[in-house]
Amino acid sequence: MRITAAAALATIVGFAAGGSATAQDLGPQIKKLGEGIYVYVGKNFNSNCGIVLTQDGVVLIDSGHNPTDSRAILDAVKKLTPMPVRFLIDTEPHPDHTTGHFIFSPSATIIAAEGAGESMRARERQDPQRIEKLAATSPAMKAALEGYKFITPDVEYHDKMTLRVGERTFELMYLKGVHSEADSAVWLPKERVLFSASAFVVDQINILRPFVTIPDILAAGKRMKALNPEHVVPGHGTPGTVKIFEDGEKYYALLLDRVGKAVKEGKSLDDIKKDVQMPEYASWATQDRYPTNIEAAYKMVTAK
Ligand SMILES: [Zn+2]
Repeated sequence: MRITAAAALATIVGFAAGGSATAQDLGPQIKKLGEGIYVYVGKNFNSNCGIVLTQDGVVLIDSGHNPTDSRAILDAVKKLTPMPVRFLIDTEPHPDHTTGHFIFSPSATIIAAEGAGESMRARERQDPQRIEKLAATSPAMKAALEGYKFITPDVEYHDKMTLRVGERTFELMYLKGVHSEADSAVWLPKERVLFSASAFVVDQINILRPFVTIPDILAAGKRMKALNPEHVVPGHGTPGTVKIFEDGEKYYALLLDRVGKAVKEGKSLDDIKKDVQMPEYASWATQDRYPTNIEAAYKMVTAK
């Protein structure tokens, strides 16, 4: 996209001064996946953030769960390179991925799938006190929110987008009906690193909103597995491999099998919610979201 004289100069400075930080300097939450590719891993299923260095500046994939995370991410970037964050790609519009926009905007161009800005505005209208409440959670959070502004993406793409920054290529793919109104997977084909958004989470029950369908989730998993990634970084949970998709597929297959049998026995949705359990996954977090999984499974098995 835009290559400015300042960016070119930054590249030269970057060769001279960048890349001196070691993994230890970067703190326990930063995991290195490859040369110039890092993940800030959220604690307790908080959202992850990808940090990708290029010869022409930094690209972030998401901006951290809370502004305290966003500031820690910015500190890590500064240790890694003197170059600026030029692009921030949102894997979804929910606040646990986007509240930190203000820390990187306007110097970074924020990119998301079509509908992301509208999704953000709709949530903001529902909870106008959100930032005040967040600031009240701790003095550190209040400090991190200094200068807060509500910022929606600068660019919304339709279906697919290719972004070239420095020597790297980022392929953005809209994932329909998997988690939010505007989910994006981000694929680095040369590096074989995939940021897979929140279509599948790890060791956790996902929330399946009314517009989310299990066929859409499974189709997204199939499409992402077909890329043959070496690293898979989910929106939430420990980064891993395609096993993340396979574990999710196994879970949904078992759920659909059980709900399907119950439907054949003539049980109602209410009965199924009471009767159909998944004890094999009792250790997964956020069990309170399980009823939304039953509803989605019921919808799928009863669809004509
Ligand atoms: Zn979300």
